[in-house]
Amino acid sequence: MTELLTFEEAQARVLAHARPLGAEPVPLERAAGRVVAEPARAVVDLPPFPSSAMDGFAVRAADVPGTLAVVGEAAAGLPSARALGAGEAIAISTGGVVPAGADSVVPVEYVVRHDNVVQIGDSIEAGTHVRPRGGDVAAGDVVVEAGVRLGAAQLGGLAAAGVAEIRCARLPRVAVLSTGTELARPGEPLGDGQVYEANAVMLAAALAAAGALTEVLPAVADEESALRAAVERGLEADVLVSSGGVSVGPHDLVRRIEAELGVEEVFWRVAIKPGKPVAFGVRGATLVFGLPGNPVSSLVGCELFVKPALRALQGRTDPLPRFEAGTLAAPLHRNDARDDFVRARSRLDQNGAVLEPLSGQESHMIARTAAADAVVHVPRGEGELAAGAAVRWLRLGAA
Ligand code: AMP
Ligand code: MG
Repeated sequence: MTELLTFEEAQARVLAHARPLGAEPVPLERAAGRVVAEPARAVVDLPPFPSSAMDGFAVRAADVPGTLAVVGEAAAGLPSARALGAGEAIAISTGGVVPAGADSVVPVEYVVRHDNVVQIGDSIEAGTHVRPRGGDVAAGDVVVEAGVRLGAAQLGGLAAAGVAEIRCARLPRVAVLSTGTELARPGEPLGDGQVYEANAVMLAAALAAAGALTEVLPAVADEESALRAAVERGLEADVLVSSGGVSVGPHDLVRRIEAELGVEEVFWRVAIKPGKPVAFGVRGATLVFGLPGNPVSSLVGCELFVKPALRALQGRTDPLPRFEAGTLAAPLHRNDARDDFVRARSRLDQNGAVLEPLSGQESHMIARTAAADAVVHVPRGEGELAAGAAVRWLRLGAA
């Protein structure tokens, strides 16, 4: 048999075909989870004016220690108070404009006030408790680089810097198609020989976490004309993700029908367990993934190949799954020919993440997988990984 692709090679081939989608303006309040398409720059200096870091009195450092006349107030939100002269102080709140002529703020705790006079006992270094204009970012400087997914910190930074709308990558439209004559919908009675359809809802959730606008197509039987019609419809999306029908059985029709519809296959079968029969191809700019039908295989294939593609379509600079470091709680056998992705539960101890492999690792055991939050990478090779061995693992459901 020809040597199978490694999952890293397969990922590289996927990414080589995933060109970033166009950009569109997105109001900041709807931009959580979106990927920035162009460097996002500050509209204003931040802070926009020299700003007090404390409640206290704005002074000239040269005047303290000393007794100063209070000549005004600079509450947050008020326009600048008048310029400060020698021997003067202005009562100021956190966020108030430090007036011209003042160079420091003495916190209120260090001041004794009598009517309109303050006594300050200690000296102060010029600049103390003054946040200089532009000290966080200057107008025109980049706040968020292109390719970054917007989370809370990025959104806060952009809002503070005056950005109301941001150019983000368009969200990929993803069609999800389950194939198999045996599939019944949850909630309906299960006929003899049927199983409940699990992949569509699972894949839609996984893909939405990575930014997909998913359309779940009705599940389709392993029947030539129905399958052709469903695939044709799915190929109108940016990405078609099917499950089932990519193995070597007589009813595995997906790859042939896709080929007949103009899909050029980039690879079929990867040296992984579960999920070996995964197929990937392209038709024009449309990416076409054929995941195996066993639900665990579909889930692993989605994490390893489809989600990276979605991230790359949105221009993310870090599209590949982010493996984390951990240690095994129990030994695991290695597969000599394929990289194994073992479902596990993660917990933290004083040294970091510990991964407990679940019992029941067969690719149909999706109900057991419901207890997993992690997938441990067991590189192919001889022997076993001992308990306590260092491993790399993926968090299920990453964005
Ligand atoms: P296939 O990849 O089509 O050969 O399917 C492999 C196994 O996965 C079979 O036992 C199928 O019944 C099962 N299977 C395929 N698609 C689904 C699905 N959408 N939900 C649950 N099980 C499925
Ligand atoms: Mg099938």
